[in-house]
Amino acid sequence: MTFTNRCVYPPSVHAWALKNLGVPQNPEKEDMSEKYEKTLEILLNNIDKSSTNDLLMLRCNVVDKELVDALGLKIGPKARLQDGETLDDSDLECSLCMRLLCDPVCTPCGHIFCQVCIERCLDHKAQCPLCKTSAQQTKSLEALHSPCDYVTKAIIRQYLPEEYAERQKQNEQEIEELTKIQPIFVSTIAFPSVPCPLHIFEPRYMLMLRRCLDHNDREFGMCMRSPDKPHHEIGTTLRVKNVKFFPDGRSVVDSVGNRRFQTTNCQKRDGYHVATLKYIEDKKIAESQVANMKRIIDKVYSEAEEWFASVAAPLKEKITLHFGNLPEKEYCFNTANGPNWLWWVLAVLPVEDTYKANIVGNGNLQERVLTVHKVFLCLMRKKTQTAK
Ligand SMILES: [Zn+2]
Ligand SMILES: [Zn+2]
Repeated sequence: MTFTNRCVYPPSVHAWALKNLGVPQNPEKEDMSEKYEKTLEILLNNIDKSSTNDLLMLRCNVVDKELVDALGLKIGPKARLQDGETLDDSDLECSLCMRLLCDPVCTPCGHIFCQVCIERCLDHKAQCPLCKTSAQQTKSLEALHSPCDYVTKAIIRQYLPEEYAERQKQNEQEIEELTKIQPIFVSTIAFPSVPCPLHIFEPRYMLMLRRCLDHNDREFGMCMRSPDKPHHEIGTTLRVKNVKFFPDGRSVVDSVGNRRFQTTNCQKRDGYHVATLKYIEDKKIAESQVANMKRIIDKVYSEAEEWFASVAAPLKEKITLHFGNLPEKEYCFNTANGPNWLWWVLAVLPVEDTYKANIVGNGNLQERVLTVHKVFLCLMRKKTQTAK
């Protein structure tokens, strides 16, 4: 890559940004944006406009001192380049994608990568991809972000404004591509409004989760496995409520079911499945049907209460721990998914997942309630038979 307006970079500023810094432990986000503003201000104030050199030069020593004072940071022993030493284009290039750094992230070992590039690497192995220094302790990107990132970005933006704008546009396009189709987690069956805790330990799903948190509105599709297809075509999106990351990159995700969908255009991306989602919503109920529907719902809700009361204590405890108690009765006519209690019932009923998937894919509330009613009849019959 050749930069059009290549210049002699002021070495000590670069050195400050690029090499070991005494970075504060777990800096807060707000704290960082303030520091970033301050850094920019100092950098811009110190452009030596009187310089005869047509390249803008920073008065490096002043900048160093002011930055250090303002940010309360220490410059590490390796932070300074020797006099006369200059940095090369490649210093601002990511060694993973070989392009100009975009949203640079500096590792504690002093290497810099684009945020998306280092994320992908850390998912596979918690170490710096260049020098193999362990990144176990700084696995979470929150902890990785340092003032060094902001200074590097400021320097690139100041010296290579056109290239950086172009690179950012490229990055945005790549991200937009990611958001057009939804990631699919292939594991189990999920239901609207029902909690679905997940343990994520496969690198491909770690990457999927990060992307989903950053770009897909914290939502991804969940489909169960299929014997003859990449996954079952009916599923439910899961909305991420909370994530607990462990130092080795695994995470426990606290999620809840949201929208039902049918997949088309299934593909694979970076090891995980993606698809275009066609959302499934309940058909409208005619005014004349409301009274009848209420009667059916009252009946099936009572059956649900009766059945749950008859469940053996250990199983009941397990169900409550996992899914909570049977939700209050509601009707929820003319909503996307109908009443939540029906999804809870479906989640806990002892029937085949493929049978449940058919019900998830059904956009007719009355048919869903009646199918669940049939399951209750069947369960009650079994019970009286075994009692005899
Ligand atoms: Zn990169
Ligand atoms: Zn390194």
